[in-house]
Amino acid sequence: MINLAYSLMPDRDNILDLRPSDAVARLRAFALDHGVDAYRGNQVARRLWTAPVASFGDIAELPTAFRAALDAAFEMPRLTLATRQQSADGTQKFLFRLADGEAIETVAIPDGKRLTVCISSQAGCALQCAFCATGAMGFVRNLSPWEIAGQVRELLLLDPPLRPTNVVFMGMGEPLMNWRHVDVALTLLNDPAAMGIGARHITVSTVGILPGIEALAARPEQFRLAISVHAPLDALRRQLMPINTKYPLADVIAAARVFARRVTFEYVLLGAVNDTPDHAVRLAELARQCGAFVNLIPLHPGGSLGFTQSSPRATAAFARVLRARTVEVAVRKSRGLDISAACGQLRVERLGRRSPPRADHHADVHVA
Ligand code: SF4
Repeated sequence: MINLAYSLMPDRDNILDLRPSDAVARLRAFALDHGVDAYRGNQVARRLWTAPVASFGDIAELPTAFRAALDAAFEMPRLTLATRQQSADGTQKFLFRLADGEAIETVAIPDGKRLTVCISSQAGCALQCAFCATGAMGFVRNLSPWEIAGQVRELLLLDPPLRPTNVVFMGMGEPLMNWRHVDVALTLLNDPAAMGIGARHITVSTVGILPGIEALAARPEQFRLAISVHAPLDALRRQLMPINTKYPLADVIAAARVFARRVTFEYVLLGAVNDTPDHAVRLAELARQCGAFVNLIPLHPGGSLGFTQSSPRATAAFARVLRARTVEVAVRKSRGLDISAACGQLRVERLGRRSPPRADHHADVHVA
């Protein structure tokens, strides 16, 4: 994968794309090479992610000449904030511009003491789920590690800063189709030497990319997994989510069973499509097979192209069927209804690309 963001600045190393242990080793060696104590390298490393600064010039604790040397050798890139919207319910949505002109979305959702940030892992998405604005754009490119974790970094650099307590990979893109970079980004988010967000507070949401689920399961940290199910039968799921042809439900459920930690099912309720009592019975069977918690998500009313919200009565009945079968379930509320908070909507509106915005499962980002 060619990373266009790198190619724009080929002569300096991007220090933000390194794992924390590699960055500190590089910076300590760089300090010694430039005649200053190695601990100066640790000071710089702390300013990358833990207490971030906008540029090397802002690291006031460093000698001026050393700051200039760092700036000449390394790149500490930024995402450019293009648009910031705030909903009446406190939800904020950010559109960030990338160095190659692409744009990605990040959503911050306050809930009591929690601030959950929904981040993007790709520009666009190849998977074309029928109800998704991002899918309608098509795939553009994978985000690099710093572009993924950097969405949280940019919130820390706001004045006043936003300090996320939870991170969910439910923004634009399928994170497990970009595992190599998501793998590094998870470390940048979680490592105490970087952002230090607890692994149990970081959720990777997938449509069920099996090799990616296995790779996530192999990590020792307690990262959480959410699976976008959206239909309990293969035939219907294939219509809504073409990826089901490659990774059918039985295989996805089997992967969820061997995932050592608890799994959440995401299920967007689509009126008269996937919200009948029979669908609920079948979903309960799947959830029981792998002990999953179920999030029922209302369709975001930002646009539908053939889909409608389930009625309150159908939603309540669906949840009752699940609970009667001892499946833990939460019925979520859409957040940011007044700011196009479904993933992909803001980008579509601002860039004017493709069809009217459609709602998707990223409109609500709570997990169990
Ligand atoms: S719902 Fe997620 S996986 Fe499906 S097209 Fe949209 S971004 Fe891609």
